[in-house]
Amino acid sequence: MTAAFLSPNASLPQDPRLSRAAPGSAADPFMDAHGRTVSYVRVSVTDRCNLRCQYCVCDNPTFTPHEDILRYEEIAALIARLRAVGVEKVRLTGGEPFVRKGFAAFVERLLAADPGLDLRITTNATLLEPHVERLAAAGVRRINISLDTLDRAAFARVTGRDLLDHVLRAVEACLGAGIRVKINAVAMRDVNLGRMADFLHFIRTRPVDMRFIELMPVGHGAQEGRWCSGEEILEAAREHAELTPVPRARAATTGPATLYDLRGHAGRLGVITPVSSHFCATCNRLRITSDGRLRTCLFSDRTYRLRPILRHPHLGLEQVVRVVRLAGASKPIGFNLLQQAFRDHGGDHGVCTTGMSSIGG
Ligand code: SAM
Repeated sequence: MTAAFLSPNASLPQDPRLSRAAPGSAADPFMDAHGRTVSYVRVSVTDRCNLRCQYCVCDNPTFTPHEDILRYEEIAALIARLRAVGVEKVRLTGGEPFVRKGFAAFVERLLAADPGLDLRITTNATLLEPHVERLAAAGVRRINISLDTLDRAAFARVTGRDLLDHVLRAVEACLGAGIRVKINAVAMRDVNLGRMADFLHFIRTRPVDMRFIELMPVGHGAQEGRWCSGEEILEAAREHAELTPVPRARAATTGPATLYDLRGHAGRLGVITPVSSHFCATCNRLRITSDGRLRTCLFSDRTYRLRPILRHPHLGLEQVVRVVRLAGASKPIGFNLLQQAFRDHGGDHGVCTTGMSSIGG
């Protein structure tokens, strides 16, 4: 990974949204100390995954014992309580969420209890297809599918499993059921930078957002020589198609992707650039891991243990929400942590030591 993009003295761009605000004020309990409104929570339902993506899962992963994983009822209660104090969007992730028994039924229950919930799922889609009709009927409208390559041998090499066909069938099933699909690929020089023609061909007839995300130096993500920038991805795509930026107002997304229309294509191309051009100024998310730890920034190892509070006979949900508010108020600027890690270790070291599979992406 190259550190060239990180100027040692670079400072955060001045963004009006970074003006100081009262952290955790009653008027806006999820306004952090940098003026960012935290309204999005990513909840991991398991740290287990059926794939072994090279940049994500370590060689001999250890998993959290079942009794330490938040029960579905606990997650549902937590989401309901966070909704009441301003959380609008919830993404369920993993590990791989569909390896957890009863996941589709859990999604049904969540949406039945709160039909207005903006609920999204991130999955590798290898186990998704049999659940698609049921999820669509329950009200799931958007699924993010992680797929780094359309080449079967490369897929097997990167993920450790020969399951590309399963993923492709799930994509078709989602589109057939009216579920909006975003495909997320981790940009990797040796895996997909030279294969843009495959991806553009794929989105020629399929109305999916194909987004490339820069490899993040999280856990096992600091992989020498593999990193490439979002700009390199766009340059490679321009060799095959004309790209026109999608105005943010029309992008139908509030997320960090920069999107492009491609002439003659049903789908769109996007890049997410957490490393070369960070979006900390507008980061509105918190993460809760499957063992109930709150993480306020992907680039920080700091976590807040919610599970003991949740399960404590005299504490419970109200205290959990207090901790979430206080922790959310001191959500750091991840880019500063990233710069510090590069100053301390150069580009060869992950910024946080926990693998992405146990954080949830
Ligand atoms: N199993 C699910 C999946 O594959 O989408 C959910 C969990 S996975 C950890 C969530 C996302 O994190 C995936 O899209 C994965 O590619 C991405 N990811 C994992 N490690 C990463 C890294 N070092 N840099 C960027 N993205 C990473």
